[in-house]
Amino acid sequence: MSALKIHPSVDGGVKAGKSGFSGGTLTCKCKDNQVTVQLAGDVAFNHVCGCTKCWKPEGSLFSMVAVIPRDKLQVTANAQKLKIVDESAAIQRYACTGCGVHMYGRIENKNHPFYGFDFVHTELSSDQGWAAPEFAAFVSSIIESGANPQNMGAVRSRLSELGLTPYDCLSPPLMDLIATHTAKAKGVVAAA
Ligand SMILES: [Zn+2]
Ligand SMILES: [Zn+2]
Repeated sequence: MSALKIHPSVDGGVKAGKSGFSGGTLTCKCKDNQVTVQLAGDVAFNHVCGCTKCWKPEGSLFSMVAVIPRDKLQVTANAQKLKIVDESAAIQRYACTGCGVHMYGRIENKNHPFYGFDFVHTELSSDQGWAAPEFAAFVSSIIESGANPQNMGAVRSRLSELGLTPYDCLSPPLMDLIATHTAKAKGVVAAA
């Protein structure tokens, strides 16, 4: 195993998801009165993310984050402990005020390319079979969280070795989705 700690869920190798996986429960890290979130389906576009906004475990260079349609997400216990980290951010991240874990992120702006999807961290679930991370996003941004710029070659090699192709923005399919959304909004291409 590499000494580089990308994220605990991938450091020992990326575990494949189960096809037809039907979802499970996310639980915060409080000792009691945990916040729980029920996901009625598998996630999509799971990836490790180097941005400074996503919640990540202590000592980890990256977060691991995926999306699920917002109608498949339900807070099932202790919702009163949740608080939005930054009301002005495009993604409203609901953190547990007890343990600090982000339970989900939601977009309220209907014109946002990812409106309709919530952002979640499947590592908060003990259920096995979630769609595996597929790539690494915003890799260069880990420098903004204090990572040594001299180490970036090693970080990118390790990500590639794990099969998590490193990108300095989102993956090409997601960048295409955003550009398509923008083009449709401007009337450049016909809505599909
Ligand atoms: Zn908590
Ligand atoms: Zn992020």
